[in-house]
Amino acid sequence: MAKKQNSGGARCVMCGRVETPDNPVVSVYDELMICNECIDFIDQQREADRQARRNAANPDKGGKSIPTPKKIHEFLDQYVIGQEEAKKYLSVAVYNHYKRINQQKADDQDDVDIEKSNIIMVGPTGTGKTLLAKSIARLLDVPFTIVDATVLTEAGYVGEDIESLLTRLLQACDYDVERAERGIVFIDEIDKIARKSDNPSITRDVSGEGVQQGLLKLLEGSTVLVPPNGGRKHPEQKLIAVDTKNILFICGGAFDGIERKIASRLNTHMVGYGHDEKSRKRQRENLMRYVLPQDLKSFGLIPEIIGRLPVLTSLDPLDRAALRRILTEPKNAIIRQYKKMMEIDGKELIFTEDALDLIVDKAIEYKLGARGLRSIVETVMVDAMYEAPSSEEKTFTVDADYVARQLEKAHFEKMEMKE
Ligand code: ADP
Repeated sequence: MAKKQNSGGARCVMCGRVETPDNPVVSVYDELMICNECIDFIDQQREADRQARRNAANPDKGGKSIPTPKKIHEFLDQYVIGQEEAKKYLSVAVYNHYKRINQQKADDQDDVDIEKSNIIMVGPTGTGKTLLAKSIARLLDVPFTIVDATVLTEAGYVGEDIESLLTRLLQACDYDVERAERGIVFIDEIDKIARKSDNPSITRDVSGEGVQQGLLKLLEGSTVLVPPNGGRKHPEQKLIAVDTKNILFICGGAFDGIERKIASRLNTHMVGYGHDEKSRKRQRENLMRYVLPQDLKSFGLIPEIIGRLPVLTSLDPLDRAALRRILTEPKNAIIRQYKKMMEIDGKELIFTEDALDLIVDKAIEYKLGARGLRSIVETVMVDAMYEAPSSEEKTFTVDADYVARQLEKAHFEKMEMKE
């Protein structure tokens, strides 16, 4: 207990020193007399304890375990074929994003404010945009959700409130708000909420500009009241407050036709009639690589939204070689999955090289892209998966003939109509 000294001032109960003008002793908790230096020491200890507890509860939050951009890229290579540019941009953006969060925690007084690095990926459908975002979330072990921008509408219209995309993020982590506030939201088909013309329209554009304005609030980082079960807000519903400041938003869209905007900006002409389909396609592919923010604006995204998506990258269309690799190389490639399933039954599944080539040929012929590879393999394998568990044979070989027969039997040519 503090004792007033006869000679001089009060004495600190912790260090026993008598107060000086530089280090006065003050009364805490009513009667405990402690000097300023000891109070600082206690505060530091408390903060260190708190940090240690946080790290123990969730190592990722300690800020030590964020992989470097190179490591992120290597991880993505295990799941996504090609798309080198997108991988590089994503790796750097995600690394910086989490570094920024940790920096905020470590030093709240720091006046250098690293801006949030939301991402927009432009590229044909089925080329790996969602897969890239999903793989990143898997690596970082943070809550992740995919939302289709087309279901979102302005308040008061049929559809879902924009805030409901945070409902899904909350659901992905069992309503742990703190975890959700560090999660990743993938907004697919962002191009579908483009306003219909470059000029602001006089009439209301329910699914376009209004939704973009709503989305802006989330991208900027603000505290949003979220309906716990999604859908529309009801007056009687208890809303959950979610701060979007540290949520990483990754947007994706095919932006069909944007190459025309790029071409006119570059002052080049798209190849017109008289050129073969192949060279037109190649030109389209090449142009996509030059996409700039102003092309997104010409397409109908409002400048404020574009400003909040500072990382812009494009994805390449998948050629034959890429499709062939996708069949077998990724960690969870469809062929590997089937082999594994057979292995569990104690059987070896073999695909010949020409069987794999034919599967790719069919995906191209029916314009099914990478998504189609799965449906083709499933169609080819259905009989084998039915028969194999009860058969005596230890190996099952799929060759090109077998693929052709199975597809013919299933009238696979009809698939082209479905997609
Ligand atoms: P997008 O979001 O661009 O429309 P997805 O990422 O949903 O396309 O791709 C659909 C599926 O196709 C994926 O689940 C994956 O199986 C396959 N796929 C697409 N692109 C790639 C790729 N670059 N590498 C590996 N698999 C891919």
